[in-house]
Amino acid sequence: MMPKNRRTWLWLLLLLLIAMLLGSLIWLVGRYEQSRFEDQLELTATDLASDIRAKLARNAQRLHVLLERETPNWQWTAKELLEQQPEILRIERRNQNFGIQAVRNSAFLSLASKQDVFGYFGRQNFSVDVVHACALAARSLEPAFSTSYFVPQSDGTGFEVTDMCIPSIENNIVTGYLVATYSLDRILKEWGEASIKRQEEISFREADGARLAVVGNSTKAGNKFAVQTVLQLQGITLILRIESWRSAPYWLANTPTVLALALVLALVVVLWLLYRDTRKRIRTEAKLAREIIQQRKAEEISRQSLERLQKSARLATLGEMASMLSHELNQPLAAIASYASGSLNLLPSDANGVPSPQDISELKIALERIASQSARAGQVIKSVHGFVRRRETERSFVQPQALLDAVLPLLGLQAKQLGIRISIQVEPQLPAVWCDTTLVEQVLINLARNGMQAVDSVATPIERRRLALIAKASKSDAAQDTHAVEFQVMDQGPGLTQEVALRLFTPFFTTKEEGMGLGLSLCRTVIEQHGGSLTYTTNIEPPRTGTTFRFKLTPHHDQPNSAIA
Ligand code: ADP
Repeated sequence: MMPKNRRTWLWLLLLLLIAMLLGSLIWLVGRYEQSRFEDQLELTATDLASDIRAKLARNAQRLHVLLERETPNWQWTAKELLEQQPEILRIERRNQNFGIQAVRNSAFLSLASKQDVFGYFGRQNFSVDVVHACALAARSLEPAFSTSYFVPQSDGTGFEVTDMCIPSIENNIVTGYLVATYSLDRILKEWGEASIKRQEEISFREADGARLAVVGNSTKAGNKFAVQTVLQLQGITLILRIESWRSAPYWLANTPTVLALALVLALVVVLWLLYRDTRKRIRTEAKLAREIIQQRKAEEISRQSLERLQKSARLATLGEMASMLSHELNQPLAAIASYASGSLNLLPSDANGVPSPQDISELKIALERIASQSARAGQVIKSVHGFVRRRETERSFVQPQALLDAVLPLLGLQAKQLGIRISIQVEPQLPAVWCDTTLVEQVLINLARNGMQAVDSVATPIERRRLALIAKASKSDAAQDTHAVEFQVMDQGPGLTQEVALRLFTPFFTTKEEGMGLGLSLCRTVIEQHGGSLTYTTNIEPPRTGTTFRFKLTPHHDQPNSAIA
């Protein structure tokens, strides 16, 4: 597993990379959008410039007529033309020496202008510009423009204008001029305004950037885009500039951008889910590992406690046995003592005296009784000794009969005390089973003692005070346990209530006053370690058949060797 620290760093790096990816994506789309938009603006600007140029040329053609007409016809035609072309403020006809022959002002002038553009600031102030334009026109034999200049009006406003001078040529000689004064503002208004959108502005500027005329309105908020193109006319060069402000983030309005953003967002979400998933898995794994370790510890502890239990159970058995042993030995010893003292009485008090033949035969009987009682006591001691001495934990093959025989003397002591008959039923020709003899004997003793205590716990008629130890060939699981031997400890006690049955194998559960509650759990452990299981059947309904505990042992020695000392 990766160290936690490194994993965190990797995730952070991944997030950073995604953020960078997202950032550059937005930046690229922004750039693309911007250039696309600028291209569009550029196109608008060049279109507008050529449109203006074309319209000026068309105007020049129409104005040409006015070079031929005489007054008053001239005035009438000029009036009509001015009405159609609001961008022209004034038309003059001049002779070849630039002297003014006829004038007509546009009707679309403010009152302050007093019907004349130059009414407030005399025409003579700008004659240099007109003359300059007309000189150029005379040289090139084409309409020419003056540089732009500002004509103030009496109300503080004014017009930025340029004069268009059209020469009248006869036989290659200039015979006069027609001068049309254009308002730059009105050119933009009439010809430009329609081609711009909201938040856009068109202006005429000088080469140095100084603004001459402007139309359009904008709040000048957001991102600014500006394009400009040169409007080159004979005699004047104007810069046509379009500025556009876009307040909304321009990249949001674009479908591919939104799509890309959505994809990145989805990626982030997926990554997040993945991250959460991984974290969950790692946690579960760690928890599992902890649990396994704990389980191992618990197993180790239970193994150790089982060993301790084993020892204490054995000690408890021994203690109980010792008390019963003394009780059991008491009888033969008392008999021996009484026979001995009886014998002494039969002997003549005089050392040289000879007992009568009658006394001798009685003495013989007494001594025989003493011998038999001693033998009986010796038998008792021997059987206990056999059990106590056997401490080896090694497994071996043992005949079922031998197992039951070994526990019988011990059980016999208690059975006798409680007035219970123990019967042993062993099926003939059973195979030897592979087991830890000492432990299995302990199991049999525990089960049998429980059975006897159960029988004794209620008033049981004499014919039911029985306990059977049975060994027979196992019938179930024929395929697996062909030769398994089933052991049964069958009592005729009151049976197990459901309440007791539920907690039967719980360590320290007991219903007895001096009980430890360890017997059955110990038995189950031992049997499980022999690869079997401890089961029982019970019957508390009348007629009560008591409880039968059973387990199986096999003649195979392929079970793991018991770890119990
Ligand atoms: P202990 O014998 O020290 O009480 P055990 O674990 O051997 O501990 O038994 C637990 C309890 O199970 C007993 O107290 C008893 O109530 C019940 N029990 C065990 N064997 C029998 C049986 N053959 N018949 C009825 N009750 C039994």
